[in-house]
Order: sequence, then structure tokens, then C-alpha cells
Amino acid sequence: MDNPNTLSQYEDVAGRDVIEHLRQLAAPLKGLRLVHINSTKMGGGVAEILHKMVPLMQDLGINASWEVITGETIFYQCTKSFHNAIQGSPVNIPHSHLREYEATNKQSAEILRDTLRDADIVIIHDPQPAAMIAHLPDRKGKWVWRCHIDASRPFRPVWKYLRDFVAHYDASIFSLSGFAQRLPHPIYLIPPSIDPFHAKNIALDRKNLQAVYHQFGIDPEKPIILQVSRYDRFKDPLGVIRAYQLTKRFIPPLQLILAGGGASDDPEGEMVLQEVRTAAKDDPDITVLLLPGDAHRTINALQRIADIVLQKSIREGFGLTVTEAMWKNKPVIGGDTGGIRLQVINHYTGFLVNTPEGAALRIRYLLHNRDILEDMGYKAKEFVRENFLITRQLREYLTLVYGLLHGTEERIELNGTTLM
Ligand code: UDP
Repeated sequence: MDNPNTLSQYEDVAGRDVIEHLRQLAAPLKGLRLVHINSTKMGGGVAEILHKMVPLMQDLGINASWEVITGETIFYQCTKSFHNAIQGSPVNIPHSHLREYEATNKQSAEILRDTLRDADIVIIHDPQPAAMIAHLPDRKGKWVWRCHIDASRPFRPVWKYLRDFVAHYDASIFSLSGFAQRLPHPIYLIPPSIDPFHAKNIALDRKNLQAVYHQFGIDPEKPIILQVSRYDRFKDPLGVIRAYQLTKRFIPPLQLILAGGGASDDPEGEMVLQEVRTAAKDDPDITVLLLPGDAHRTINALQRIADIVLQKSIREGFGLTVTEAMWKNKPVIGGDTGGIRLQVINHYTGFLVNTPEGAALRIRYLLHNRDILEDMGYKAKEFVRENFLITRQLREYLTLVYGLLHGTEERIELNGTTLM
């Protein structure tokens, strides 16, 4: 089943006690109005998580909802520049773009005013809707800014501009401590997670796997290395091609699949895709796929037929694609950056690399040592089970809500038990 969205189904995967704990935590929060806001319904990790997180919160009795703000082209150009700047790129954003950003946020706040004014908790994801808070002075609930991107070394002038909005929030969430910025409110660290019952992660039968070989002309006899990601320079697809080319000199029957799609709030994807196609055009063993946003089973199957999964990002907020691959028993060769470091434990669940040469070396090593490849894949899955399932993230969100609603109280009564 692709979309059960009921907690009991998670007992087998996450453990009965974990689910029982979630129910206990949620019981006093029944009826709480919690709104998530981001800027795309499809594409990228944020939408991926919200599609599952919101129904699970509802299943726990929380009145959770998800709103998406939209804007004109200039708005997305501006917010993509924010994204690049937070991840460290020096960018020059014209004033007209900033005005458009502010106007879109003002307009969105007006459209959503009734929902937001009365919400108990509002979670704003990433910079796109961050300025809405400035237009809701009469808000009653607690507002949280959730940063999904690698904010370890932001381009200061842009962060300074955004910080003026973020400072109004009651709390922020970052994925790891290295990303946390100095802010005048509590900061929580909550890494993202995957849903094992999402179509992207459920077990597939042999027929599903064979179908993708056929659909994309993939050779079942040649080892496969795969990277799944938006066509974004921070994901370094050209570095992946280079790593593949370097490996192929030594392991000739080899193929590379680059699978990606766009996100409606990412205007740069087309350009990067063209660069990738140009770099790949002389090699019939490279397959470059542009997939629709709902190609979850296809991505699932590609991750399962791959021998090794790469995520050679040079900046990465978290990298859900890493967790997804690890859940399928794949060791991941990942860029030594951001959230990838939380998941790829070097030499244990995969390898961390800094260059295409480094990636090529690790690919060769794993293809020559199949027993190690398998062992790492096994450890990778168990590591995800312990750390990166949606049930863990849900627990942390619920705990955060308690923290926000109960402030500095030292004891919180929970359905007969006491948290201290
Ligand atoms: N994804 C997808 N189709 C694509 C590319 C990516 O569905 O063509 C999914 C991918 O499986 C993962 C999410 O989008 O679930 C990407 O999240 P990640 O954290 O890896 O990167 P982001 O795009 O958020 O930077």
C-alpha cells in the first residue's frame, strides 16, 4: 500500500513502543491547529516530507494543514538567489526582486490571514514564505522558521536581510548544529526523515524492477551507479559524470544514471540539465532522465537496481536521496558536506568524498569488493531505521510543540505521565 497514513502500520518498521510513545505525546495536543507553509507542492525534499508528515499529524488528532504560497517568476528568481546565498554563494539581488519577494509575502499573508491568525503553531519552511510574519502582527500562535538548507556559511549581506524577518519568529529549526545561526530565540536541531510507506520507499517486486530496465533502455548486465537529484549545481552532476568517466577506464562495463526533475520553485534547473546533457552526449552508457514530479516508483526502482548510489553534492541541507538509497541497502558515496555527513558514516554506511577522483576511487573499491558493498548496505539500512524514519521526526516535532507551548515550565503533564 502506498499511502496508509495510519500510525499503526509503522509498528512493524519502527517498533511498537515508538508508536505508543507518539500517541502519548500527542494525546494532550488533540485539536491543536498547526499549519505548515512552503512554496511548492512537488519537487524537493520539503514537499516530500510534508506529504507524509501532515497526514500522520492528523492521524494523531492534531488539526494539521499545509498551505503553499506561489508567486511570479521574479519571486522564484529571488528566492533561488536566497537559497544559493544561504548555501554560501555570493549573489547580487536587485532591489526590484526584493520588493517582489516582500510583495508576494504580503499578498500571501493576506490570503491566509484567517488561517494563520488563529493557528496555535505555524511552521514556515525555508526563506520563500519567511517574510509573511511581518504582515501578521495580530498572530496568536507560536511561529517557527524551519531552515532545510545548508546555512553553515551564508553569504552575509543576504543572510542579514533575511535575518531581520527570521528574528521575529518564536523559534527556528535547523537540520544540524553546524547550520545554526545566531538568533534571538530558541533553536532546535531536527534532521529530516523518510517515510518507509511512501511509494518511493516501499518494497518492489521483480516486475517493477524489470520495467525500469525496459523503459529507459538500461543494460541489466552492466553495474549501475546512480545519482537522483534536482538539476542543481550544488548537487554537482558534472562531478558525478567525471567520477564515472574516471572509473570507467578501469571497470569498462559500467553505466551511469542521472535521474532528476524540476521543482516549481527552482528556475535554474533547465540550464543545469542542458550542461549535463552536453557533458553526457558522447557516451551511450550515461542515461540522463528528466522525470515528472510523481515518478516515485520509478525512483524507488532505480535506487533498487543501482549497485552504488552517489550524492556528490558540494552543499547539502540534508539529502533525502541519501536516506532513501540507504533504506534500500545501498552504500552511498556522498559529498563530505552538510547533512550527508549525518548519514554517511565514512567506511561504515558509505564513503565521504571531496572530489570526482575520490568518488571514482571509492566506486572502484566497492565494485571490486562486493562483500563489503553488501555489508555496508546492510548497515546503511539499519542506520536509517535507528535515526531517519519519519516517526523520529514526528516525535521531535511534537516535543518542540510542547517546548513552545509550555515555555520554561519544568514539568509537563502527559496523559498520566510526567515529562521533566
Ligand atoms: N526527487 C524526486 N524526483 C526527482 C529528484 C528528486 O522525487 O527527479 C526527490 C528525491 O527522491 C528526494 C527529494 O526529491 O525525496 C529531494 O530531497 P533532497 O533532500 O535530496 O534534496 P533537495 O531537492 O531538497 O535539495
